[in-house]
Amino acid sequence: MMIPLTVGIRLLYEAQALENHKTGKETMELMNGWRVKYGVFTLAVILFCLIPMAGAGAPQQGFYTILVDPAHGGDDPGVMSDKLREKELTLNLALLVREEAQKIPGLQVQLTRSTDRTLSIAERVKAAGTMKADALLSLHVNAGFGKKASGYEVYFPGFRQSVPGGGDSSPIIKDMARNTSLNDSVRLAQRIQSALETVFPRKGRGLRDAPSPLWDGLTIPGLVVEIGFATDPDDRKRLTEEQTQRAVARALVMGLRDYFRKAP
Ligand SMILES: [Zn+2]
Repeated sequence: MMIPLTVGIRLLYEAQALENHKTGKETMELMNGWRVKYGVFTLAVILFCLIPMAGAGAPQQGFYTILVDPAHGGDDPGVMSDKLREKELTLNLALLVREEAQKIPGLQVQLTRSTDRTLSIAERVKAAGTMKADALLSLHVNAGFGKKASGYEVYFPGFRQSVPGGGDSSPIIKDMARNTSLNDSVRLAQRIQSALETVFPRKGRGLRDAPSPLWDGLTIPGLVVEIGFATDPDDRKRLTEEQTQRAVARALVMGLRDYFRKAP
């Protein structure tokens, strides 16, 4: 933007300088002609530069914001196994997802945290509203279920709601918005599952409906993705590889892209 502007202004100055050193009617007419020409030229350059800038601020059709939540952080390390720290792995993955999403027009990824800091569940849910996110993806690493457990799991909000202090509350869905977001969550879960299948073939442990405090008050599709088991040596080895992390990030972005492409 600055270069064409300076060129235009410099040309105007040059015309002005020429005018100052010459006299006579002919020269004046010539200079007036130049001034009009360069004036029009500069105006055209300015308009040319301003049009795309105005367009950038306008609402775009098919523009989606996804809030990616690297679980745990700060005082809460999450699962720890060997050298793997869940809070570090989820953060690495989230940063890669944000980077990969930049390659897809119309997809924007925001993070609940981009550093190693403590963040409550309530703060994470609140961020979804503040950022006007269209979907929430919370990234975790699994552990337990016996030493042989391995593979990824995708959780979506169940038709049961969790209540503070544990236990399930009424199975009745209270409003249509929530109902719609639940159906959307299932569709998103299916897309994410097929995308992850390309990175971890036959390692999917299925879509799971589970209560989570993360779903309380959430009116957008949301998922928890347990990317693998820190307690499984094979999973742990793969998950700590930069190459696998990049592939997982890319797969998650592809899953999100496919979901929003088919969104009504
Ligand atoms: Zn976790």
